[in-house]
Amino acid sequence: NLARDAAVQPSQSAASPAHTVVELKDVHKSFGNNQVLKGVSFAIPKGQVVAIIGKSGSGKSTALRCIDRLEIIDSGTIHVCGHAVHDPAIDLRQLRQDVGIVFQSYNLFPHLTVEQNITLAPKAVKNLPAAQARAIAARTLQQVGLADKAQAYPEQLSGGQQQRVAIARSLAMEPQVMLFDEVTSALDPQLTGEVLRVIESLAQGGMTMVLVTHEMEFAARVADTVIYMHEGKVWETGPGDMLKNPQTAELRDFLSHGL
Ligand code: ADP
Ligand code: MG
Repeated sequence: NLARDAAVQPSQSAASPAHTVVELKDVHKSFGNNQVLKGVSFAIPKGQVVAIIGKSGSGKSTALRCIDRLEIIDSGTIHVCGHAVHDPAIDLRQLRQDVGIVFQSYNLFPHLTVEQNITLAPKAVKNLPAAQARAIAARTLQQVGLADKAQAYPEQLSGGQQQRVAIARSLAMEPQVMLFDEVTSALDPQLTGEVLRVIESLAQGGMTMVLVTHEMEFAARVADTVIYMHEGKVWETGPGDMLKNPQTAELRDFLSHGL
């Protein structure tokens, strides 16, 4: 979407190159006296995939939520598609149009069909006519391999299919970046595969993404950059194959003992 990219350039932070979609600089975040993010910095160029791994409680979800301003940071800066996310004057509606986020719990509306779930936001937020919203739903359902499920209700679908609908719903807003927070954690292993394949195909299609995941092999294969978070810090970072050769005792320990 060249026109849209061009429109984004003028407000891009002077410090970050135009092709940087997400940039965190020295981000701190506490809940009460629990310091959860202790100076987190990373940048994601357009079209790249970052996987965030680390123990439970290391701050992965908080970091992800800060990118979409679901959490407000205490200090540091976050820029996303030219939006200054740390700025209280930010236009949240614009930000949320550019950022898609998918959680472990897919939260589809049970009383609405798959198509109605997907067309809701494009109609309400973007004021798209119904026919255009339905065409987008058809396209995004195709992308997640569920073209034949438009008229189904969520309860008629498996967990993996529901999660793929949740991804399609997010894609329907045509985001510039997608954030995934352990989207396969609640799924059986055989359903995990079908969701990971959808995410991998988005990566191949050039979508900029942040994946918080426990799927180490997947992270190593699909991510351009892996970030190992430990105690609220970016402890170790590198390409996917860094997981074969961890540099810190903490990452070695994490990889051998898991969660
Ligand atoms: P991870 O996703 O790596 O498991 P989280 O970012 O969810 O870690 O949590 C990091 C820490 O922040 C934990 O100690 C958690 O209890 C705390 N935390 C997260 N969200 C909140 C919140 N909304 N209120 C208070 N504490 C929170
Ligand atoms: Mg989490």
